[in-house]
Amino acid sequence: MVGMARTRNDPGTLPCGYRTGGAVAPRAGATLYHLGLGSNLGDRRTHLEAALAFLGGIGRVRKRSSVYETAAAGMPGSGPFLNMAVALETALPPLELLRACKAYEAAQGRDPRDSHYRDRAIDIDILLAGGLVLATPELTVPHPRLAERGFVLVPLFEIAPRLLHPVEKEPVVRLLARLKGAGEVRRIP
Ligand code: ADP
Ligand code: MG
Repeated sequence: MVGMARTRNDPGTLPCGYRTGGAVAPRAGATLYHLGLGSNLGDRRTHLEAALAFLGGIGRVRKRSSVYETAAAGMPGSGPFLNMAVALETALPPLELLRACKAYEAAQGRDPRDSHYRDRAIDIDILLAGGLVLATPELTVPHPRLAERGFVLVPLFEIAPRLLHPVEKEPVVRLLARLKGAGEVRRIP
């Protein structure tokens, strides 16, 4: 990199595997993660803001989307979610980031043994970890349901439309266009 110009609109000079769509590039030694946040319990907006403060303590929040409201899919009887997407730059490796997020969720009152599809004060998912592809029992990146979820893709599209999905080999804008019946994802002021 030394001696090479790195400009906002020149993804060609980014480290191999990164395609940030000209948005933001991580500093050396750090990864630019894209995270999905969700809350459907209690004061949902406060839970999102508190999660942003937590993330700011373990890295640098480079971008945050608007807040969107979506009906709780596959969770009959549950209240609607507020969702947002965040670009987080941190030197934490993926598993450490996941564990930090899980510990934070647990501290906010979520039982880590809960199965999927439960009401939650805060849910933090790792959507993408730069160009990394990883499948372990504890962590899969890109997030396995990323390409199917309108409530994830719509906020992500707002902050990183040209970000490349390293498995699908498609940018977020194309994943969103491909999605049929994204459900209603409503941007709220
Ligand atoms: P969901 O977010 O799909 O509703 P949970 O938040 O309950 O589900 O996550 C269940 C488990 O999924 C977590 O304990 C975690 O170990 C695992 N997991 C695998 N990949 C990821 C990822 N990319 N981001 C967050 N959790 C993940
Ligand atoms: Mg989760």
